[in-house]
Amino acid sequence: MNYENERQVAIEAVRKACMLCSRVRATLVSEETIAKRDKSPVTVADFGAQAVVISALLAAFPDAPVVGEEDAADLRAPGGREIREKVVRHVRLIEPGMSEDEILSAIDHGKYAGGPRGRHWTLDPIDGTKGFLRGEQYAVALALIEDGQVVLGVLGCPNLPVDPADPAGPQGCLFVAGRGTGTQMQALGTPDIRPVRVTSVADPVDASFCESVESGHSAHDDAARIAQLLGVTAPPCRMDSQCKYAAVARGQASIYLRLPTRADYQEKIWDHAAGCIIVQEAGGQVSDIHGRPLDFSLGRTLRDNKGVIATNRLLHDTVIGAAQKVSGTFLA
Ligand code: AMP
Ligand code: MG
Repeated sequence: MNYENERQVAIEAVRKACMLCSRVRATLVSEETIAKRDKSPVTVADFGAQAVVISALLAAFPDAPVVGEEDAADLRAPGGREIREKVVRHVRLIEPGMSEDEILSAIDHGKYAGGPRGRHWTLDPIDGTKGFLRGEQYAVALALIEDGQVVLGVLGCPNLPVDPADPAGPQGCLFVAGRGTGTQMQALGTPDIRPVRVTSVADPVDASFCESVESGHSAHDDAARIAQLLGVTAPPCRMDSQCKYAAVARGQASIYLRLPTRADYQEKIWDHAAGCIIVQEAGGQVSDIHGRPLDFSLGRTLRDNKGVIATNRLLHDTVIGAAQKVSGTFLA
């Protein structure tokens, strides 16, 4: 199956959403907003990015089902007027012809339940909202799932340094992976696109790992124990969002650990679908902490999986073995 058309549409949709997010960040996020922990810029960018991506998908593929993180209920409520107006203003900077109704309907189109049959898209309009507010890492994540398998993933990372060795240099990367066609990275706003690959590190002593900034999303203490068992000495690279998958895909880190902090949390498909194929097509391996493949066929969540471990493939069994030995909360 050739997904060339889907790939071009998805890249363009994610690129537009990245532009919207960067503009919202520049215009709405002030020192004061951050000090007051005001979430409204995240909310405006989240809804705006979902409207832009879904309307671009529907223009090319009418009625395509989408599992999106957001819905427009809060914007339609009487108290949602101020945010709704900001969302509409920002979406119109990208899509001038869209009416308020069209914008709200596009957002609400993300309510699809997912499942094992046919094709659907899954979208996280801003993954890593805390990173977005801090001016650090976040991602626009879009993937196409067919009969329960991820076949295409696009990850827009507006704040990710183009060259990991030059963190103060140009920022903004887009990663794309199609099943069987490898993973490519493009510096946002430039035409250069190049293949990326995972590291060839085979001894964990030489490996570095990444994990969430938020200890509520991934158990830092269990990760430290796994690192110790493996003999990893490099400090963890903490990053918000699916940028962690991108870091493994381009060889910036060899391991991504996402270790459950509570027994009942179900990972969401939009938090992993794009990142998963981006690592796999770059030569890496992705599973849950027990080594089971992530199962995207079960609806909106990965309910049969616990946590996530992504590696350069060479290290996978060793890392899973260490994870099984660590008696963290997640094994309880
Ligand atoms: P990260 O940026 O890697 O910390 O992940 C951000 C994502 O974590 C958000 O999009 C949430 O959907 C998800 N999330 C929220 N609560 C939890 C939790 N308890 N465990 C794992 N992930 C979570
Ligand atoms: Mg997310």
